[in-house]
Amino acid sequence: MNDLQIDDFKSDENAAMVLLVDDQAMIGEAVRRGLSNEENIDFHFCADPHQAIAQAVRIKPTVILQDLVMPGLDGLSLVREYRNHPATRDIPIIVLSTKEDPLIKSAAFAAGANDYLVKLPDNIELVARIRYHSRSYMTLLQRDAAYRALRVSQQQLLDTNLVLQRLMNSDGLTGLSNRRHFDEYMELEWRRALREQSQLSLLMIDVDYFKSYNDNFGHVEGDEALRKVAEAIRNASSRPSDLPARYGGEEFSLVLPNTSPGGARLVAEKLRQTIEALKIPHNSPSEGSSLTVSIGLSTIIPKPGGNYRDLVSAADKGLYSAKKNGRNQVGVG
Ligand code: GH3
Ligand code: MG
Ligand code: MG
Repeated sequence: MNDLQIDDFKSDENAAMVLLVDDQAMIGEAVRRGLSNEENIDFHFCADPHQAIAQAVRIKPTVILQDLVMPGLDGLSLVREYRNHPATRDIPIIVLSTKEDPLIKSAAFAAGANDYLVKLPDNIELVARIRYHSRSYMTLLQRDAAYRALRVSQQQLLDTNLVLQRLMNSDGLTGLSNRRHFDEYMELEWRRALREQSQLSLLMIDVDYFKSYNDNFGHVEGDEALRKVAEAIRNASSRPSDLPARYGGEEFSLVLPNTSPGGARLVAEKLRQTIEALKIPHNSPSEGSSLTVSIGLSTIIPKPGGNYRDLVSAADKGLYSAKKNGRNQVGVG
């Protein structure tokens, strides 16, 4: 429900919709006459108790006047039925009885009635009670509508926060995690591996001769090549805990928690081959070459006093040796 609908409720909060359920037409007529001069009170009469729930669902009364003794259906059972039906659960019910009897009153309240009047009630009192119950029901509806609106906007806020979080963590060009998220994740995984004394592996991936790729094909093509490399890195990370990221420029990283040196080596070698197999044309190191990457890897079981940057430095050493030894290969640091 939006604000406008809530305002509608407010402007209408003195209005009452009364449903009288009574098998005696005479009572129906008497109450109708009693309410006929009242401003803002709509009156409906239902003489068949078996139709009461359906009629209440249809006309949405703000107060139900319910006769207790009717042929074929006990008024108290009907009160319980209103209470069990989602559309009538909260509608105030004033029970109409032929006598003033504490036991019947007590049973009526236990069944879910809100009030009790002896037939035929004095008109001034009847109107006062109808207005009182109707107003409190309208207040309840307004409060429920406000809560619903609040819940919707809270959910929207949560959704927006999720989108923002994703945007804040991702790299615009490739959609991989960005450097900020990489640092945050490494910090977390480092601490976890320290706690569990598990192996934390890291790949640092650098595109070979990329400066000359840009110089030759232009930055737009360069960006396109980076996207393809990023896609291959995304596909190389198979476990939910693996984190592919763009470290900066044409350098990428892949965090592999709980991964042994042998396992990391397999992932690295497969990734290197996958990128080579993309056969992205390049003119370095020679005409007719394909774009390749060099990968440095390292695995650490963290020790107290250390830092995740130790692992980045070690993987960097591996990358340096891969470059030095001729590129398009995996180096261990
Ligand atoms: P090496 O084989 O030793 O890695 O040589 P390299 O040319 O790849 O290394 P270098 O670090 O000298 O050059 C990296 C180049 O990557 C510089 C720049 O032109 C390019 N580059 C970095 N970020 C981007 C980017 O976002 N888009 C594009 N198109 N190019 C980028
Ligand atoms: Mg580089
Ligand atoms: Mg490079």
